[in-house]
Amino acid sequence: MKRAIFPGSFDPITLGHYDIIKRGIKLFDELIIAIGINTEKNYMFSLEKRKQFMEEAFKDEPKVKIVTYKGLTVDFCKEVDAEFILRGLRNPADFEFEKAIAHTNRKLSKIETVFLLTSSKTSFISSSIVRDVIKNKGNYSLLVPENVKIE
Ligand code: ADP
Repeated sequence: MKRAIFPGSFDPITLGHYDIIKRGIKLFDELIIAIGINTEKNYMFSLEKRKQFMEEAFKDEPKVKIVTYKGLTVDFCKEVDAEFILRGLRNPADFEFEKAIAHTNRKLSKIETVFLLTSSKTSFISSSIVRDVIKNKGNYSLLVPENVKIE
């Protein structure tokens, strides 16, 4: 069984994440979306809300599981018996950042990181830009899956 985790903050989920997850599903038997709990980060959306947005977006995907986790990603991989970490790459800055993390994870464990290049249509999207559009009352719906609605 090929099991991967897709870790992230997903604050909130964007069409970029959605694209990577949809394409990742084809590569693995099970894809666990692992929403990180980092007490030092100031999130816009609560953990419950971030999880709810994910659950709604992938309710029809039996291969996708959504969980939350604390601590090191490699430790969480061991806990759920996942051999792979899936990550998306948008640009050279992502690559440099992800390279250091992937090397570190590889040093700490046998876990392989699998990278997917983002689709050109969604490569410019980031959760931080989406949060900015939301804060300034812009049309965020163009950047997130349909189910993401902010009251
Ligand atoms: P983190 O706080 O771990 O960076 P994010 O929620 O921002 O969490 O991102 C989770 C993963 O999704 C990362 O691998 C990131 O590169 C990827 N990602 C973010 N935005 C996009 C996008 N527009 N297209 C593809 N992948 C993306």
